Amino acid sequence: MKIRRNHGRFETRAIHAGQESDPQNGAVMTPVYLTSTFEQDAPAKPRDGYEYSRTKNPTRLSLEENIASLEGGNWGLCFASGLSATNALLDRLVPGDSVVCGNDLYGGTYRIFKKVFERYGIEFRMVDATDPTKVAAAMDGTTKYVYLETPTNPLLRLNDISHIAKIAHSGGALLIVDNTFATPYLQQPLELGADVVLHSMTKYLGGHSDVVAGALVGKDEKLFDDFAFFQNSCGGGLDPMSSFLVMRGIKTLAVRLDRHCANALKVAQYLESHDLVDRVIYPGLSSHPQHELAKRQMKGFGGMVSVELKGGVAAGEAAACATKVFTLAESLGGVESLIETPPSMTHASIPPAERHAAGLADGLVRLSVGIEHEDDLIADLAQALEAARKAVTAKV
Ligand SMILES: *Cc1c(COP(=O)(O)O)cnc(C)c1O
Repeated sequence: MKIRRNHGRFETRAIHAGQESDPQNGAVMTPVYLTSTFEQDAPAKPRDGYEYSRTKNPTRLSLEENIASLEGGNWGLCFASGLSATNALLDRLVPGDSVVCGNDLYGGTYRIFKKVFERYGIEFRMVDATDPTKVAAAMDGTTKYVYLETPTNPLLRLNDISHIAKIAHSGGALLIVDNTFATPYLQQPLELGADVVLHSMTKYLGGHSDVVAGALVGKDEKLFDDFAFFQNSCGGGLDPMSSFLVMRGIKTLAVRLDRHCANALKVAQYLESHDLVDRVIYPGLSSHPQHELAKRQMKGFGGMVSVELKGGVAAGEAAACATKVFTLAESLGGVESLIETPPSMTHASIPPAERHAAGLADGLVRLSVGIEHEDDLIADLAQALEAARKAVTAKV
């Protein structure tokens, strides 16, 4: 894939890569090409390879070049959702193949692995990938992919990409990294040895909670041919309007992420000093067990903060119901701050015993820290924690 205007540093490429002014009229913003089909010059002579928008659309292509540039890849493919990208990734496997993956994956990823593709004879082996020797031990001749998230959700554990890339490659497998939480601004998995990066662009890349989208990015052209074949054969390519929205979001990725990181650190430090808090999990705190790896592997520590409250589910839910700036909702990565309680929301499908074994405390609250003023965010959390204190005291 040739990437147009692929020059300059990250912030410059975020705005320009893949995007040229329209050759017909000079429109500076990439037009939203709402067309299913394209006029041909002669039978089977499409212009620039454009025939039909499932296969290739100019607006989607601009975004695909852009995300390829930002991740340091040679190609990108954009899909109707993050999970649609995961689907294309898995379409390449055949019965008898296995995938070794982390054990605290995004819930929808767990579902497509265990409930959809396992029915087709593909095996998914979940291991605690924070210990890379466990990844090595789970691999064998059937293993085609090692699949990681880092930081993970909601416990914000880190996996060592360059170490695990070596393990994956020595066993003949590809390393796939879901880079949704970090974004290419904070973490560059391909540079660290990963073969394919997967995104839910619904989150920080879109950045405004107004679009659902996904992507695969890589370097190897043979992999591009495979995934483009499945994108065309099975559908699921991102539509032009959503492609435009994600491109618009990405233009401000760097400035948004700087603020997300700064606000998240302030919030994490505030919570760490609060008497109703048992533990704050944020890779940017020196109390995080993998803070050193975070400093090595990431340029910043992201906008997600998890916190364990004293008082269990009752405290977490009371706090989440009492916030006025933080909105009670699932998802993450938008400019607005969100709060949710994993034990009763995103991770409710995991039975309590398994949840506890995986380290998810009942009082766990997950924050997607937005880019509002830090003082407003902290004041909001302060009053919500007082509401939680009242709820817990009333119960006792
Ligand atoms: C949201 C999310 C996904 C799934 O993406 P969708 O766009 O919702 O399909 C995958 N991985 C992570 C880490 C996510 O947060």
